[in-house]
Amino acid sequence: MDTTSIDRQSIGPNEPGHTRRGLLKCMAWAGTGILWTMSGGVPKGFGLGGEAVASETGGFTFVQISDSHIGFKGAANPAPDATLQQALAKIAALPNRPALMLHTGDVSHLSKPAELDAAAEILKTARLDTHFIPGEHDVIGDDGKAFFARFGAPGAAPGGWYSFDHGGVHFIALVNVLGFTPGTGGTLGPTQLEWLEDDLKGKGASTPIVVMAHVPLWPIYPQWGWTTGDAGQAFTYLRRFGSVTVLNGHIHQIVQKVEDKVTFHTAMSTAFPQPAPGQAPSPGPMKVPADKLKSMLGVRRIDYAPATGLAAADLTLAS
Ligand SMILES: [Zn+2]
Repeated sequence: MDTTSIDRQSIGPNEPGHTRRGLLKCMAWAGTGILWTMSGGVPKGFGLGGEAVASETGGFTFVQISDSHIGFKGAANPAPDATLQQALAKIAALPNRPALMLHTGDVSHLSKPAELDAAAEILKTARLDTHFIPGEHDVIGDDGKAFFARFGAPGAAPGGWYSFDHGGVHFIALVNVLGFTPGTGGTLGPTQLEWLEDDLKGKGASTPIVVMAHVPLWPIYPQWGWTTGDAGQAFTYLRRFGSVTVLNGHIHQIVQKVEDKVTFHTAMSTAFPQPAPGQAPSPGPMKVPADKLKSMLGVRRIDYAPATGLAAADLTLAS
């Protein structure tokens, strides 16, 4: 299993009729440079036997799923509920039961209560302690009210962000979609940034940190809004930690990089792929041949062991 590659041969025609939130259709595509990198040094999954390493050394396994877009009906995937179920089956088949599951947003396609309810019904079949943050598709029209009513964390800040600890790892769930625009991407805002500074106060620099947020917290492709404008401020608080793992969604493909002690990962969707940065006139659902789709959807398993830290492995629905 390769944790760093994007299957570029799978790039198919973009579907302008299904671009996210319409507004993106209006964006001009400027420039040909690819700003994202997939540097070496990204931790590899343990592979066979890794589960034993994780559990025998006091560690644990958790999983990330993202962008399930329940309610989407486009040609790129007419049945995202079925592929979400397949993703959960993939997780259920892992040799070690995950201690928890993270959903990094766009649970629904249009924030409709029926979509959110349908997603909740499917997700509860995983019987996993699941922690959510919204994507911009989950906050359409009501600033996430319906989303938070179903998936909000107990004790979360009024804006929906929160943190928790598990097995020696500190998890931070950030909300960067309430001020989202296709032109500027995600934003955290001063209130959340202050909360983050406070949340990290008193934590030892050796505490492993996992940060989840929907829109990438680094500039993958700002022309498409694949960035978070004020994330730099967040990293001034995070930088002193020896291990920071950032888990994002939104772009429906894996892009990873390592910067000092921070490892960044975006995730595959469970619903449909999107074009690689700059490889289409605009982002949005990308139709690929039916026999290719499962190889572009997937889940991420992360093993944590105190001695060796965190290691991520991406599993496609075809693998
Ligand atoms: Zn999104």
